[in-house]
Amino acid sequence: MKLDFQDIRKDFPILSRTVHGKPLVYLDSAATSQKPRAVIKALVRYYETLNANVHRSVHRLGEEATEAYEEARRKIAAFVRAESPTNIIFTRNATEAINLVAYSWGRSNVGPGDEILLTGMEHHSNLVPWQQVAREKGATLRFIGVKEDGTLALEELDSLITRRTKIVACVHVSNVLGTINPVAQIAKAAHAVGAIVLIDGAQSVPHMPVDVAELGCDFLAFSGHKMLGPTGIGALYARTELQERMEPFMFGGEMVSQVWSDHATWNELPMKFEAGTPSIGDAIALGAAVDYLQALGMENVRRHEKDLTRYALDTLSTLEGMTLYGPKDVEIRGGAVAFNFAGIHPHDLATLLDQQGIAIRAGNHCVQPLMRQLEVSATARASFYIYNTREEIDVLADALGIAARYFSGVIRTTG
Ligand code: PMP
Repeated sequence: MKLDFQDIRKDFPILSRTVHGKPLVYLDSAATSQKPRAVIKALVRYYETLNANVHRSVHRLGEEATEAYEEARRKIAAFVRAESPTNIIFTRNATEAINLVAYSWGRSNVGPGDEILLTGMEHHSNLVPWQQVAREKGATLRFIGVKEDGTLALEELDSLITRRTKIVACVHVSNVLGTINPVAQIAKAAHAVGAIVLIDGAQSVPHMPVDVAELGCDFLAFSGHKMLGPTGIGALYARTELQERMEPFMFGGEMVSQVWSDHATWNELPMKFEAGTPSIGDAIALGAAVDYLQALGMENVRRHEKDLTRYALDTLSTLEGMTLYGPKDVEIRGGAVAFNFAGIHPHDLATLLDQQGIAIRAGNHCVQPLMRQLEVSATARASFYIYNTREEIDVLADALGIAARYFSGVIRTTG
């Protein structure tokens, strides 16, 4: 099936707005995606017709809200091909999902002398929580290096994964380089030494078919807001045996079974990890986002983004003064394209593009160690999703040409 982009664009109300009098060209979906009307409607419908707390009311609204919330869990489980809905723990976002693993699994399974293996392209959300675990437990962080071409130095894997490795936490798709990492291969090597594997799927789950069994991961973290869903909801896929052995992350209502004055027992899986009132409406709306993506077909989503990425790399590379980061081969990369251009600071570039209605991201993208390796303080980044078109990439390229001319005087005088 070929996606009909004009039809898709009509589903996203925000895409018809203007910015500084120009049609909005939204190229920042790696930061957060826009939301189709179906998701916005699901959110409104929840508050207009279903709003009640879940798992604790016997009244009709409470039952309906619980059923809708659990239905969303079922949809999300099916989306990542989990064995059971109970493998899905709702969190606020990918960051909280990773923290859940770091606090709950990390703090009881990592000890002095153990090693935590990451990569040199981790988002801070899959780095800083492990720095904390390592510091508290006397463990060591190790890193799979990033090569010049933006891929991981897998030849280091054999020497990096040892009996001391307790967990390998690895980003599936880089939010800067776009690299799709061979996580199944890494997971196999990790499991061979008895380590467990967490995959940061924040940039993969929204953009390509993801199957937890194929990846062979123990944990998969992702955010709803990057996959057409609302903010405030994310998920952690966690294998049942691990959930059973893990202590809760947070304590309070909902996550308990029996409570006495001096102790308590825990609720069944996965509620043991969902303390307090969850983001009910957001979870239900994320279920609607999953329906929307499933109807498009994730193979089609991936094909469309591959086409856009190829077109963007071809178009942008013709511009003089363009430095593009990450692999050139679209088979091994997703649709986040980071670049530096014509000596213009990425923030200046983003400001100038904004004047043309174009939204890109500029900064370190929460990956400061990688920025140091690239020897830049920041990059610009255009990132694509189902609603973007080749024409928008042309608009970006034209606007970059204008920016280069605008700044050329400044660059000449500052050398
Ligand atoms: N990992 C990656 C690769 C990301 O791109 C992001 C978001 N930029 C995150 C983790 C964190 O996602 P969130 O802020 O939604 O928790």
